[in-house]
Amino acid sequence: MKLINIQQKTKLAPLTSFRVGGDAKFFFEAKTNEEVGLAMMYAYEESLPLFILGGGTNILVSDGGFDGIAIKPNIKNIKPGEDFLSVGSGASMESVLDYCLERGFSGLEWSGGLPGTIGGAVRGNAGAFGGEISNIISEVLSINVIGVQPKLIRRSSKDCNFSYRSSLFKTKEEKEIITEVVLRFDHKNKDELRRVAQEKIQYRAANHPLEYPNAGSIFKNIKAQDAPEELFERAQKLGKLKGRPERMMMPTAFVIEETDLKGFSIGGAEISTKHANFIVNKGRATAKDIFSLINLVKEKVAKKWKLDLEEEIQYLGF
Ligand SMILES: Cc1cc2nc3c(=O)[nH]c(=O)nc-3n(C[C@H](O)[C@H](O)[C@H](O)COP(=O)(O)OP(=O)(O)OC[C@H]3O[C@@H](n4cnc5c(N)ncnc54)[C@H](O)[C@@H]3O)c2cc1C
Repeated sequence: MKLINIQQKTKLAPLTSFRVGGDAKFFFEAKTNEEVGLAMMYAYEESLPLFILGGGTNILVSDGGFDGIAIKPNIKNIKPGEDFLSVGSGASMESVLDYCLERGFSGLEWSGGLPGTIGGAVRGNAGAFGGEISNIISEVLSINVIGVQPKLIRRSSKDCNFSYRSSLFKTKEEKEIITEVVLRFDHKNKDELRRVAQEKIQYRAANHPLEYPNAGSIFKNIKAQDAPEELFERAQKLGKLKGRPERMMMPTAFVIEETDLKGFSIGGAEISTKHANFIVNKGRATAKDIFSLINLVKEKVAKKWKLDLEEEIQYLGF
């Protein structure tokens, strides 16, 4: 059996966009499917908890770190077909979008400025500006350890059970590492595609607190129908509601603002004054500061509006 070089005691903070948190007891960067399988076998044989690390842009790692193995699938190859692309799960969204824009492949323009890897995006069905990654997925390949052997599983988009910020890979109990994603595309004018993607990047630069470490939106948006009447009417008056009438959503940033929490801070963590669903690390935040602030928001929102906010970010080591 091929040996793999598993690292010990690896700092996770530099591998996350929040830039906080402790060490992983074990860490391995897998560059091939075979290495993904071997690292998963190692975790299985040593009975180690396993965490899959993508770009680290949607996670909060505890200050005490993670007492298990973090595996980073770093497979980045992009293989084109006639009207589809096969992409390694460790490829950054930015690199996949650039590849598509250069060739006039349409379907990913909405993701301009979306950080992270394509594997992470598929797992959480990332989306923005009305687009979602699931809309262009044809197939997803992943590795699981079944009967003590790594097994490559190929699923159609339908079998991935995609829904709002979720998929089978998120809800399933046993860990599966996404290794490859097959995307299908239309062909469109390159300049027009570039213009749309650029517009999204500029929107993000103007409206998101990109000047500080953060992990994007902390909470999922809420179904407008769940909001109390007073809040619903106010959101409607201010034009804050989004989506089709039967599936109208209320931005959680609006709910947090209406709870008077914009700019509130604990230690080095602050509810962004630019976008209230972002928490920013003002320089010296600990994971505990961020975690306490998240819980404070949940408590205040529940008390004032009887709404239960659900995290979009994933916790590690809590
Ligand atoms: C500035 C900023 C803006 C953002 N804007 C948006 C936005 O508009 N829309 C949006 O949806 N999100 C947004 N995000 C959140 C984040 O970028 C996305 O959710 C992204 O898709 C996460 O990918 P990642 O590779 O960084 O995943 P990570 O943060 O590394 O991991 C997230 C989860 O996915 C799992 N995972 C990662 N890779 C794999 C894999 N290969 N196989 C199986 N599981 C895996 C991890 O175990 C973890 O549970 C934003 C984040 C930031 C910092």
